[in-house]
Amino acid sequence: MTTLLFTHESGLAHVSPLGHPERAERLEAITAALAGPGFAALARRAAPLADEAEVLRCHAPEHLAGIKAARPERGWSQIDADTYMSPGSWEAALRAIGGAEAAVDAVLSGEAANAFVAMRPPGHHAERDRAMGFCLFGTVSVAARYALDHHGLARVAVLDFDVHHGNGTQDLLWDEPRAVFVSSQQIPLYPGSGHADETGAHGQIVNLPLRPGSGGAEMRAAWRPALARVADFAPDLILISAGFDAHRDDPLGGLNWTEDDFAWITGAICDLAAKTCGGRVVSCLEGGYDLDALAASVAAHVTVLMERGQ
Ligand SMILES: [Zn+2]
Repeated sequence: MTTLLFTHESGLAHVSPLGHPERAERLEAITAALAGPGFAALARRAAPLADEAEVLRCHAPEHLAGIKAARPERGWSQIDADTYMSPGSWEAALRAIGGAEAAVDAVLSGEAANAFVAMRPPGHHAERDRAMGFCLFGTVSVAARYALDHHGLARVAVLDFDVHHGNGTQDLLWDEPRAVFVSSQQIPLYPGSGHADETGAHGQIVNLPLRPGSGGAEMRAAWRPALARVADFAPDLILISAGFDAHRDDPLGGLNWTEDDFAWITGAICDLAAKTCGGRVVSCLEGGYDLDALAASVAAHVTVLMERGQ
């Protein structure tokens, strides 16, 4: 068994206005980090283009049509206060979904033990009817529904350790009893949601607010009992919204995580997966805006996936 990396050069063609933190250089930094000698055993695949109908697993038809219509021929179209599309954004967003779904296919077929999908734009802020927070479509939620409905899984878990709340994932999975969603986030911070009393229509959503300035100890204390709850749920597959902006060097977040903390949470999730679902984990890139911290944190994350995937 092996660990698969899904990525595609179209992830570089989603171009942001100058000075925007969610920029193509993020993916270049990750690609460079994963080209190192420690990652020679990583199997690499091109993220395929998802059919646009896959978006409808979670989003309203009007949202799909609106994003499709907003594609600019040149320059940018502005979707919300901080969300833009360039001419390459449509393909990039569909390949992010295609990569996540292909990763689900590979992990469920036994071709790989686990997988990391390094694509952008990110997805966890996109709600059913609107793009926001750099995100056009809810990539991880679409992949979760794909695992449930296409592959017929009974239960999946979506775990989100991005510094920002995955309000989009929460919105898309709010009434989905087959999916547990656990999200840790700094509060207060954008987008403002993610309080502990937001628990989903079936009590299957777990929010873990973290105080500004808190670090690895507080993170571990929050996640340990949450992961025990996920174990009780007995998912058939675990999806990760892997954001690395809780790193202490990140310019958008105010937490103090280190590469070791990302390695710890990855290992803890892999331990849980080994207990409940044969180790099956699909991790998808979300945020992370300091290029050096992002590269080092992704390297730590993927290293653990590779160790546990052997
Ligand atoms: Zn984030």
